[in-house]
Amino acid sequence: IRIETLSKVWSGSLHIGLTSSAISDSTPQSLVPTRATELVSKPTWVVLGSEVKKCGSLIKENYTPSLYRLEIGNRVGVKRCADGTMHVYINGEDMGVAASNIPKNVFAVIDLYGSVESISVISNSGGDNPMLASQVSTVSELVEIDKDQDQDTSSDVSFHGNHGKNIILSAGNCTAQRAGSYNQAVIVTSCRLKRNKLFQIKVDKLNACWSCSLVVGVLGFTPDRFNFPVSAIGIKKSCIVVQGDSVYSCGVKVKGKYGPNLDQLKIGQTVGLLIDNDFCLHLYIDNMDQGVAARDIPYPCYGIIDLYGQCEQVSVVPTERVSPVPMCIAEDREKADFDEVVKEKSGRINIVEPNLVRNCEYQNICSRIKILLGVPDGYFDTSMNICYCDGCHKLRSDEMYHCKGDPPKEFALPSSWCKFSFKLPNKAHTLNVQDKWHSAYYGTRMDLLRRIVDTGDLHVSGSESGSCSILTSSITKYTEKSRPETCGLKPVYLSPTIKYAGCNEFSPKYKLTDPKTKKTYCVRIGLQVWLKPGSYKVGPQSLGFDEQIDPKFKNNELEWSTKERGSIMLQSLLIKIE
Ligand SMILES: [Zn+2]
Repeated sequence: IRIETLSKVWSGSLHIGLTSSAISDSTPQSLVPTRATELVSKPTWVVLGSEVKKCGSLIKENYTPSLYRLEIGNRVGVKRCADGTMHVYINGEDMGVAASNIPKNVFAVIDLYGSVESISVISNSGGDNPMLASQVSTVSELVEIDKDQDQDTSSDVSFHGNHGKNIILSAGNCTAQRAGSYNQAVIVTSCRLKRNKLFQIKVDKLNACWSCSLVVGVLGFTPDRFNFPVSAIGIKKSCIVVQGDSVYSCGVKVKGKYGPNLDQLKIGQTVGLLIDNDFCLHLYIDNMDQGVAARDIPYPCYGIIDLYGQCEQVSVVPTERVSPVPMCIAEDREKADFDEVVKEKSGRINIVEPNLVRNCEYQNICSRIKILLGVPDGYFDTSMNICYCDGCHKLRSDEMYHCKGDPPKEFALPSSWCKFSFKLPNKAHTLNVQDKWHSAYYGTRMDLLRRIVDTGDLHVSGSESGSCSILTSSITKYTEKSRPETCGLKPVYLSPTIKYAGCNEFSPKYKLTDPKTKKTYCVRIGLQVWLKPGSYKVGPQSLGFDEQIDPKFKNNELEWSTKERGSIMLQSLLIKIE
């Protein structure tokens, strides 16, 4: 919509949002509340000023530059995105996620409140989209900013000459030390941070006398003449920082349980800042991406570091030594990982605490891809999701192989897959499958997944004709009533390792596009199941491999098969992105 007329005699301004409430011309006037924020009978999300309210209650502060500052001709938009988030656009610029978990059938709600007296709808479903045009211009402005920065000849980032009172810089402004007390030690980078370029510092000195520690983040304005407050949290404008495991925007906590707790940093660990293409801030610890700390950060921006509490000295890590670990693990690295695990056991101290909470970007992508698979949320127990990517696995300091069942049987953890656990049926508790049964893997196809999950039965993917493996055979169409008696006589093939069950033959790759980033990934899916001991046969792999597929299991014991109905119970959905 576009703002057409404003009247300055009123205070307040436009409210815009989404509502499940269907209001039509025939809705009695008495049922239409006087303000959008009073729409509480059905879920309603409204942005007003810089706040987001759900059914009248505040759910987010500092969401946008205030809508109170709208002028005639300004354009405001609202969108429910495919991932269920609500975004508001001002003059074509995405203000980021205002709210999430928005149901599909919602209406835009606009309140011509206060100063806003008239608006017009300017978007339409096809043809010229003025929003789009303005987005293009926004993008090109940003590209120019980046170009500017790229022409900047100063190669390495150091610390800015203007800093907190207790700071002493040395080593060509690349080392910063707090000379006394526990605060007044905020430092900023000498130049603006470039996108997709990791800026890292190393912790040189800690003093256990104090509590709390290093605080890092970004500052959205030039620090040239800035009078630094005693701590970074005290900066009340255009500043996003991580302290401990919480993210603060302009001094207000906006997120908790983020990344490993910075208060637990040890000497020698590195902390990095990276701004991605979507203007999201990522924190890196020891070269490892901790996921998105904040979205829609001020840009251009400077890195900000507060040598607070325990942290007394840091230095810049020169760029040539910076090489971030990619989120996705290539398959050919898996063997190397095994060696690494062995090495770690033989003495190398794991510097990252095992119980740290990590916001894993790989897991985030898998979660969004999972939505595309069409398995209803009701099947899952979200408290049991586990990411087995390299980084998450290492943080847990977990073994690669576990034993389950009675009698015990070994299985491999689904290394580099992401696990989404199903709710266990009551039967599973009665049979005590979690203690008594074995754990196994099953690679499957996307078109079969929904039916398997709906029936809880891997046999449904079987067919009576053709191929030797039911996993790749075509589906027979039948209804519950006309299901042929022969169906289910064909064995189901499973494996104690996903390295085998996740092969192309069982688990083909699909190209899927992340609804949020629009990036396309190669995706495989599989299932982890409970398998009744004694109900299956152990046999050799049938895909003609010469090399050992999993270092723990001989190739001649990789393929487990069962014809017994009721001997398998679904445990979790597995997703892998390559
Ligand atoms: Zn992970």
